Amino acid sequence: MSQIFVLRACAVLAVVSIAVTLLPEPNTQGASVAYLGSVLMSGIFLVLSMRALPSYRRGPWRWFVPALGLVACGEVWLKTLQVTAPDVWPSPADAFYLIGYVPLALGTLLVDRQRGARTQFGGLLDAIVVSASALVLSLVFLVIPVLTSPDMTAMGKLVGSAYPLADVVLLSLVVRLLFTTGTRTLSIWCLSAGLSCVVLADTLQNIEAVTGTDVARGWMNLFWLISYVFYALAAYHAQRDIEAPPPPPQASGLTLGRLSFLAFAAGLPAVLEVSLAADNRSGYGLHLGLGSLLMLALLVARIWDLLRELNATSEQMAVLARTDPLTGLANRRTWDLELDRYLIAARACRTKVLMAGLLDLDHFKKYNDTQGHQAGDDLLREAAQAWLKEVDGAGVLARWGGEEFAVLMLCPDEAGALDLMDRLRQAVPRGQTCSVGAARWDGSESAPRLLQRADEALYRAKSEGRNRTVLAPPAAVPRIPAQRKAGDSAGSNVSV
Ligand code: GH3
Ligand code: MG
Ligand code: MG
Repeated sequence: MSQIFVLRACAVLAVVSIAVTLLPEPNTQGASVAYLGSVLMSGIFLVLSMRALPSYRRGPWRWFVPALGLVACGEVWLKTLQVTAPDVWPSPADAFYLIGYVPLALGTLLVDRQRGARTQFGGLLDAIVVSASALVLSLVFLVIPVLTSPDMTAMGKLVGSAYPLADVVLLSLVVRLLFTTGTRTLSIWCLSAGLSCVVLADTLQNIEAVTGTDVARGWMNLFWLISYVFYALAAYHAQRDIEAPPPPPQASGLTLGRLSFLAFAAGLPAVLEVSLAADNRSGYGLHLGLGSLLMLALLVARIWDLLRELNATSEQMAVLARTDPLTGLANRRTWDLELDRYLIAARACRTKVLMAGLLDLDHFKKYNDTQGHQAGDDLLREAAQAWLKEVDGAGVLARWGGEEFAVLMLCPDEAGALDLMDRLRQAVPRGQTCSVGAARWDGSESAPRLLQRADEALYRAKSEGRNRTVLAPPAAVPRIPAQRKAGDSAGSNVSV
């Protein structure tokens, strides 16, 4: 018999047993056996599903086995007690049930960790909002009534308040599974559904305990039993998690749906306070009021976090829009804006020289062809860093396009500006060279005209043998192809 057949048979038997427990019960014993049978089948289903996982992925799911085992022990104890002393509460069975929450919570936390969920402050705050709302309601309507009940023993108060608090922990784990950034696979949905069913069934039981009314035992049993099947199903589908790609990085994750849910969770204590006060039934005005204030503070914190994230994102976008991704230098768009700014500054400050330069790596295509495109990229990056160091904040350096760069500087005199241009030429790393065409702004020409002259000078530098700096002749003066070696600094190769 193949393992998968046994596994499916257990799943089917677990569900059939659930159906049997729901039958109108003339035969309580039969229902109890069916209940235990369902827990057992879910347990076998869980163990087999877990064993189908690679051993390094089984860890978190192992915790669900003792969780189910403790439930089964509690169940046996309870059924035995029901024969001898049906009205005893709390009983040792409650100890089994309550201890069972520990492996359940631990296993869930480890599943969350294993799927690589990244805790984002926003997602965490969402989880806190929902959990805090549940905690306030749980304290006000379930825990305080139990603690202040005159008919309950100390043990009864302890156990009666432990269940709702354990449920708040489970609920916060469900919210964490669903709200923090991580892949929400079928397995995660099944686990969340299982935990939610427990919280639901427990809450019905807690309401029953506080109000003393019979709520719906059938429904409670149904939700408890379904939760065990869901744990097993979660382990069964965990195989797929291994193949699931990691989730894409998300921004805040605050969708309209989630915001509505958060507003509902945060507003619930206040709504209950108002409705109870209207009925003159509210003895919990202070608790609910404080709870509402807490919710308000948490929501404000969430919105503050969202704004902070939005600002950081828009700042990031702005940086991306003005930067060249390969070299980190200013891109063409930024260059155009800077050029206009520098022209305004140069018009205002007639004592300074505005010099524009175009730098073009020599024989870069050959470098790419011989060393590879990656090495070409590295050379572009390293050259950009070397030039940035030379410019040292005294001007603007931008990637003009491809292997061409542009530089702009306001200097006290032409010789100093030309000297810096030539230092840039000499700074190219990896034994490579570049040619530089420079043009001094004539005091009135347009930005395109200034660049055109720099481009012409670059063309001349290339045609005259490369690895040199050529200064364009003054705008109004016709070009004279005179050339002189600057010669005073080592490696200098400047033409005017
Ligand atoms: P010249 O000395 O005349 O400037 O010759 P060149 O080979 O440098 O110039 P050419 O215009 O023939 O080739 C430029 C090359 O630059 C071609 C293109 O593949 C390469 N290039 C442009 N952008 C990039 C880039 O981002 N990375 C790399 N690795 N190569 C690039
Ligand atoms: Mg070029
Ligand atoms: Mg080139």
